[in-house]
Amino acid sequence: MTAFIRGFLADNCNQCGKCLAGCHYGDFTATQARVVMQKITAGPQWVPELAGCIRCGKCDYRCPDDARPGSLMRECFEYRRRADGGIPSSMAYAINGMAAEGWSANFFRDVYKGLGAADKKILNDWAAPKKSKDLLFVGCTDRMMPAAVESSKVLRNAAKFGGPDDCCGVWAIQAGLLEEGFRIGERLINRLKENRFDRLIVGCGHCQKVLTRILPETFGLTVPFPIISIYEYFLERIETGSARVTRPLKTDAAISDPCFGYENGAAYLEVVRRLAAAIGLSVSELPHNREDALCCGYGGLFNDGRIARVVTTAAVKRRDLAAAGKKHVVSYCPGCHLLVHYFQPGYKSHYLLEDVLSALGDPVAAPFSIFYRRLARPRMAWNLLKVSPSALRLSNISSPSCEIHPDARHD
Ligand code: SF4
Ligand code: SF4
Repeated sequence: MTAFIRGFLADNCNQCGKCLAGCHYGDFTATQARVVMQKITAGPQWVPELAGCIRCGKCDYRCPDDARPGSLMRECFEYRRRADGGIPSSMAYAINGMAAEGWSANFFRDVYKGLGAADKKILNDWAAPKKSKDLLFVGCTDRMMPAAVESSKVLRNAAKFGGPDDCCGVWAIQAGLLEEGFRIGERLINRLKENRFDRLIVGCGHCQKVLTRILPETFGLTVPFPIISIYEYFLERIETGSARVTRPLKTDAAISDPCFGYENGAAYLEVVRRLAAAIGLSVSELPHNREDALCCGYGGLFNDGRIARVVTTAAVKRRDLAAAGKKHVVSYCPGCHLLVHYFQPGYKSHYLLEDVLSALGDPVAAPFSIFYRRLARPRMAWNLLKVSPSALRLSNISSPSCEIHPDARHD
């Protein structure tokens, strides 16, 4: 019987090492990769050779035997969390969905608290269950731009749902807190069940990945309703003639695939490209794309909580952007959009969701990327100050001082 409980299919694994040998965040020779895989397939454990892993999941496509090594990396990282006895406070601050368990110092909730009265009213309404043929789950990041989503004519037939603490659990999972991630995901499913709907439209690809892949494959939890992505929904509306492109973008841009693109499947990757073309974007591929896409950099935060790791991870992506030779970059992940906006100077970052709304005639008066204006609010500024020693520290990642920030539990 397999010792692995997080979705790794150990019986399929032949310890060939191909998963690690092609990793962009670890420097493994073919022999080293095989040795590491022999170690970690002997039983789930943390080994220092995996220190660079950001759990991007891209080793899955390199596996010739469909053993899901990405799930194994998550499971190994869970052992690291146990060994460390906690997580860096900078990482804890980035995890939403734990208010029900007493965590309240949280980046997303601080952003929501900084919204204006009209936006707060929309968020309040989104927290209440709805009855609708199509239900749009607005995830943690897209809840930073409530007015654009709520006032959209293109989205008017879909009821919106998503309260401040409704999260899929992806950031807890990426942090190695798998049990917490499972509880957050399970709470979301129970919250979604309070609604009455035929199909769920999911705005964020991370949520889609968690609901359709991680919860069933890692935790055995099946989601009992059909799910489509918001991009599939937009394309469906354009192709059936119920939405029309009135302001085509006419921009030549490189398309940046996020970590979740590949995990959501080949059809998902095609939909975003067809949609981008339908709204007038002329997209070209980055050298690493689709199943081999590079992380924008945000995944680095969930390695060790340090901004330095975000910067070095983003630097790998920057080489791809330079090779593509385009000044415009379109992302369909809100996190990738923000990372390109803030960490890739010289490039104009587009968020596909905003571009689609705009092309279909909706105003996007307050773009997602202006969330920084809320950073100056006292509560967020105070919390950022408190987690900054953890985010800025120069010491190495396995410091025993990696403890959950007290304010993440008691605020
Ligand atoms: S999950 Fe990503 S970073 Fe980690 S070993 Fe696999 S490919 Fe490398
Ligand atoms: S998980 Fe797949 S690629 Fe990695 S060692 Fe096992 S069989 Fe090879």
